[in-house]
Amino acid sequence: MKHKNKHFVIAIDGPAGAGKSTVAKMVAEKLGFLYVDTGAMYRALTFKALKQKLDLKNKKELIDMAKKSTIELLQVKGSYKVFLDGQDVTEEIRTEEISKNSHFVACIPEIRELLWNIQRSYREHNDIVMEGRDIGTIVFPDAQLKIFLDASIEERTKRRHSQLKQQGIDIDIETLRQEIIKRDEKDRKRDIAPLKKHPNAIVIDTTNMTIEEEVTLIIDLYKKIAKESSL
Ligand code: C5P
Repeated sequence: MKHKNKHFVIAIDGPAGAGKSTVAKMVAEKLGFLYVDTGAMYRALTFKALKQKLDLKNKKELIDMAKKSTIELLQVKGSYKVFLDGQDVTEEIRTEEISKNSHFVACIPEIRELLWNIQRSYREHNDIVMEGRDIGTIVFPDAQLKIFLDASIEERTKRRHSQLKQQGIDIDIETLRQEIIKRDEKDRKRDIAPLKKHPNAIVIDTTNMTIEEEVTLIIDLYKKIAKESSL
């Protein structure tokens, strides 16, 4: 559906572990929108930099690497895949090592510019649900629906812990809590595209909500906007 001549964008931002991916995927599936996980792009470049043993403090090396990389987010047989230079890296990019080190590529303006161009291109032909840290503020400040998903640090740690456990990674919960706090602080305090709520974003505190409740709420908000725009 085009809204004011532009495809519909549901922008979902928020800190680590707020449950953005699960909810964004489900909303996209229910509405038939394209789901775009922008964190996966920063993770894929971090994965490559670590694999190539680049110095993560050397911005020039990271920019050169990013310029030579291709990142594709594809839906293959109902599951979401991340391809880096043609290789499936969906699983590899989910480690804590990558979580901890993603801020190096994420704070480089030239790299963000490259990724913003790719992210914006998804809207040319699709209605989308895009999740990240700067979607409502920078990538699509004109998104028709902007959501800021949040939850208490305890709840976010618990969710991330069980997610990692499912992947067979057992990490001490207090260590994980500290890592999430540090990561959020870096995301909130960086100069370029810091994590923050757009003034028009609707804040949803998911601490005591079920996923179904979150999905229903976002879909109801979408329907309200879609209805108003067709009046
Ligand atoms: O969303 P996810 O936790 O996978 O993102 C990994 C990291 O990528 C974040 O901690 C953040 O540093 C970076 N990121 C970003 N902007 C986005 C999405 C992710 O800077 N839009």
